Amino acid sequence: MPLVRYRKVVILGYRSVGKTSLAHQFVEGEFLEGYDPTVENTYSKIVTLGKDEFHLHLVDTAGQDEYSILPYSFIIGVHGYVLVYSVTSLHSFQVIESLYQKLHEGHGKTRLPVVLVGNKADLSPDREVQAVEGKRLAESWGATFMESSARDKQVLGLKIRKVVAVAVLRHCLVVEM
Ligand code: GDP
Repeated sequence: MPLVRYRKVVILGYRSVGKTSLAHQFVEGEFLEGYDPTVENTYSKIVTLGKDEFHLHLVDTAGQDEYSILPYSFIIGVHGYVLVYSVTSLHSFQVIESLYQKLHEGHGKTRLPVVLVGNKADLSPDREVQAVEGKRLAESWGATFMESSARDKQVLGLKIRKVVAVAVLRHCLVVEM
């Protein structure tokens, strides 16, 4: 009998950075055209890793800024976070830094299970955040970093979906909250 585990993962970041597109890529493998500001959506997926089965609940949020107060539901019972910014928006990167501080204060832990994602890497000519900056920030937290594109499905999308899934799960497994 496989061991079944429940995992709640929350996707946070400034609005329009691609949180919903990434969540869909991960859960359903499709790219959403057009902008539909999310209220809050939970996707469920069963993921098998080795002998274990994970019931993953991925919470896609409405988007936050530096003034947002994070509700308790984003803190209590959460096993991991996907923090998303857009490589084309320095502001979205700055928002991530302030969100991380809030999570850190909320949890009172030195190390949080976080995957930092720099999305929209296909828009490289419009870049405002270099990959090295994302990497450095993630390293300072002891977190995993990756750049992604929710759009470029043919070349990158499928691979990225896989990487995000594995990274999220690995982090969720490392720290139990
Ligand atoms: P959210 O508000 O953070 O959930 O962002 P959405 O997923 O709704 O995406 C906002 C807009 O950016 C939409 O128009 C998407 O089509 C677009 N988008 C999302 N991810 C990417 C990406 O990786 N590359 C490009 N070029 N556009 C993207």
